[in-house]
Amino acid sequence: MTILTPNSPTAELQALDAAHHMHPFTQGVELAEKGARIITRADGCWLTDSDGNRILDGMAGLWCVNIGYGRTELADAAHRQMLDLPFYNTFFQTSHVPALNLAAKLAELAPVDLNHVFFAGSGSEANDTNLRMVRTYWQEKGQPERQVIISRWNAYHGSSVGSGSLGGMKGMHAQGGMPIPGIHHIDQPHWWAEGGYSTPEAFGLERAQALETAILEIGPEKVAAFIAEPVQGAGGVIIPPDTYWPEIQRIVDKYDILLIADEVICGFGRTGNWFGSETFGIKPDIMTVAKGLSSGYQPIGASIVSDKVASVIGNTEFNHGYTYSGHPVACAVALENLRILEEEGIVERVRNETAPYLKERFESLADHPLVGEVKIVGMMGSLALTPDKATRAAFAADAGTAGFICRERCFANNLIMRHVGDRMVISPPLVISKEEIDTLVTRARLSLDEALERLQKDGLMQAAPA
Ligand SMILES: *Cc1c(COP(=O)(O)O)cnc(C)c1O
Repeated sequence: MTILTPNSPTAELQALDAAHHMHPFTQGVELAEKGARIITRADGCWLTDSDGNRILDGMAGLWCVNIGYGRTELADAAHRQMLDLPFYNTFFQTSHVPALNLAAKLAELAPVDLNHVFFAGSGSEANDTNLRMVRTYWQEKGQPERQVIISRWNAYHGSSVGSGSLGGMKGMHAQGGMPIPGIHHIDQPHWWAEGGYSTPEAFGLERAQALETAILEIGPEKVAAFIAEPVQGAGGVIIPPDTYWPEIQRIVDKYDILLIADEVICGFGRTGNWFGSETFGIKPDIMTVAKGLSSGYQPIGASIVSDKVASVIGNTEFNHGYTYSGHPVACAVALENLRILEEEGIVERVRNETAPYLKERFESLADHPLVGEVKIVGMMGSLALTPDKATRAAFAADAGTAGFICRERCFANNLIMRHVGDRMVISPPLVISKEEIDTLVTRARLSLDEALERLQKDGLMQAAPA
């Protein structure tokens, strides 16, 4: 058979893709008819597709290319490591240099008492590790009845059976027998969609206190851990009210419940600090990391574990691990990525310069007739689309109809902005320049104008009944 190349005609690439490639979170038949957009190369914040379009990537791939595309240092690190030692495992009392260096580097970067690292191949795998680790922790502590993990509706923790069960995506739970037992979901701190009867501050407290209510219902002696993203990413960049995290911290401390901060998106500069836990004053026992850890150049995830938890887990044989736990090439690339983030001061530049600029420019979209609230922290933001700002109404049409139309307009205008239902989200590479931020916002506004026109023409600006 012929192997196609990035220079092959788009129609051929699409036909072969449609014939054999099953896409994640995609309706295959519909995509096969339409043809996938084929991305062929990328540099900095810009993608090129098979038709030669240059597209501004407002999503950093899938929330991960923090350092931007095209860094040859990372390619060189992978090349060197493949020649030296392309693979070895970390089972059976062996180790290798990239894994031990990366573990030490993560311990240095992470908050004070998080000094131990268990590697995985992805964020989903790392959360599966966490699920088993917190339950094993309590077993080893002589409290084996502490097995329930509390999570939140509309959280995203991955797509494996374990991590998908920890997540609170109802569409995922509806397929394939999830959630597994022992996971309890509470409501999310999503003020715009669910909290309009109250102030954001009061609502944030109320949604945090839902954790205490759940703990008391289940019985504190049965609860192992609470898991949450500092900012829900895939759920729509839901930034909790300021009152939320301090109250959550008070509650987990009071009942001695382990706190897992899922930093897969928030980690490595996304919120303007190295970790979202710093931005929101969270003191986790375990942090999940992936995505920005390697800026997506290699698949890798990890659990960064506190002294308290690691000392207990270390007393038993933890019967868990992946062939690619601490894969040497992935570790070498992640180390090089962290070196560049640190030495080039990328996180500081986000915090002090580009994130404040993005905030100012992105918030200017609030005056658009289609836009309700605008939320942003660091380099992650979202716009709620609404047919009626005054009442914060949802659309009468199926959720996601307006968001999809807006995303299609963004695509047509060579901007990648994703939609989550009727929320538009951005999460650009951390290296985005002020000029590129201007381009992003200009294209977003144009796309909103075109989406509004289309929604009006199709009679879709009707509000759902309150
Ligand atoms: C993407 C994501 C995951 C899952 O990571 P994968 O590498 O896709 O398995 C877990 N948690 C959060 C918060 C994520 O955004």
